[in-house]
Amino acid sequence: MKNVLVAKHPATGETIDQWLVTEEMQVPDMYEKSSAAFQFWSTRSLETRLSFIKKMKHHLLENMDEIVDEICAATGKVKTEALTADLMPVIDIIQHYEKRAPKILKRKRVSTPLLFVGKSSYVDYFPLGTVLVISPWNYPFQLSMTPVISALIAGNSVILKPSEVTPTIGLLIEKIAREVNLPKNILQVAHGGKELGQALVSGNPDSIFFTGSVETGRKIGVEASKRFIPYTLELGGKDPMIVFEDAALKRAVNGAVWGAFTNAGQVCMSIERVYVQQGIAGEFIDRLVEETKNLKMGEDIGSLTFPHQKDIIRDHVLDALEKGALLLTGQHPDYWGDGMYIEPMILTNITEDMKVVTEETFGPVMPVITFLKEEEVIEKANSTEFGLNASVWTKDAAKANRVTSKLVTGSAVINDVLVSVANPHLPFGGVKNSGTGRYHGDEGIYIFTRQMSVMKDAGLKQREINWYPYDNKYGKVRTLIKAYFSNKKQLAALMRSGIKQLRKK
Ligand code: NAD
Repeated sequence: MKNVLVAKHPATGETIDQWLVTEEMQVPDMYEKSSAAFQFWSTRSLETRLSFIKKMKHHLLENMDEIVDEICAATGKVKTEALTADLMPVIDIIQHYEKRAPKILKRKRVSTPLLFVGKSSYVDYFPLGTVLVISPWNYPFQLSMTPVISALIAGNSVILKPSEVTPTIGLLIEKIAREVNLPKNILQVAHGGKELGQALVSGNPDSIFFTGSVETGRKIGVEASKRFIPYTLELGGKDPMIVFEDAALKRAVNGAVWGAFTNAGQVCMSIERVYVQQGIAGEFIDRLVEETKNLKMGEDIGSLTFPHQKDIIRDHVLDALEKGALLLTGQHPDYWGDGMYIEPMILTNITEDMKVVTEETFGPVMPVITFLKEEEVIEKANSTEFGLNASVWTKDAAKANRVTSKLVTGSAVINDVLVSVANPHLPFGGVKNSGTGRYHGDEGIYIFTRQMSVMKDAGLKQREINWYPYDNKYGKVRTLIKAYFSNKKQLAALMRSGIKQLRKK
């Protein structure tokens, strides 16, 4: 009997849909189909490929409410967040690449040093083949669609394996591909869990784009490296927010509350550690608590999506409380019950050995830690194994720049939170255990290409100066090299006469 995948609403537990999973034995066939589709798709013009992507944008705009409802049913997130943070970024990235992709993928002419006078140089970009995209459950639409669209624009065919935690999103994406008449097998969706993911990685991808946990990312990186398959890993975070005494207090409070609790904290770039300077700590924390208490469950804060994540959050909060942390607002885990809604929590009296400081919590938990000096907070901010995003809050522009430049992180925001990920011009990705590689921006297309560097000569000269024969050349070439790398003024004349002479020989 074939396996059936059942999708349930995370908050209510009601069955949304059920359908057949993709069996592991189907994987080789999927790659064969993908490879055949690639032959077709990669030879279409960029304009043709973009025309399908534009149709997707129109489809998304025309069916916004239905798509938002499907995202909410799959994840339990609130409607505004499904719209602004899961659907809208996809529309935005399409719009961005509609304009920018022709420039990104165009042959790039680069200059050729005088040493190679008479030659020209350029870089061409070709698609890779089949791109395997594996995505997580927290922004299941955006984190699937953005790499899928980027890979398709670059001319690749794609196999997408969305998260088994939010499986209806895979069906939604298949439906969108059908609605815009995307040619067959250019995008295939594989429905299933981690064993299917493993089988796909062990299959025949030409590139892997993975978003998810550090643990899975490491396994995929190892597997891909064995076969030199290019890969991008977008992994977890433990993002610090640094609030100096001279920050705009109310804005910093509102930013912290939103940055820590949006999507119930299930964001790779959530504010997971708030560092506030001693002088304003009392007032800052009081206001944080006040603002957090104003949040409405079900309207501002959605449900958790993945039951297992609730266990991790509980474990981190209990660990902190056992080690002496104070819960200023939110419920003690003992009173959480079976439901998937948990109130946002603020913790103080934090020590460096607590899991809420060192490990990714991925839930509505905000540990607040005080600091005295700039150097101290930089060291603390950099102290985890992660480096995805960070924010620095101060009215002093010089201090903001100084501190930001010392943070070891893939991106940073000054006097705001999370927002850098929303600018499609900016590359996005992590350092340390937060991942490797970048997407969004021009890099978001280049990672799905094979770059070829070409140098061209008219082919009319008999030989080059460094070719055979070498007799009597040493001294002249030596003079040339010295002039070339030192005295720029004498250089041009010498080069021309010298190279001509040497070529004649
Ligand atoms: P996960 O690693 O458990 O699963 C992610 C995907 O990988 C799923 O589709 C899963 O089925 C698949 N998978 C699991 N094991 C696999 C294996 N051995 N081989 C191949 N595929 C496998 O992660 P998750 O719980 O779905 O997502 C949460 C994590 O994702 C958090 O750590 C979060 O920080 C991270 N995340 C990162 C970003 C980013 O852009 N950096 C964005 C969102 C989420």
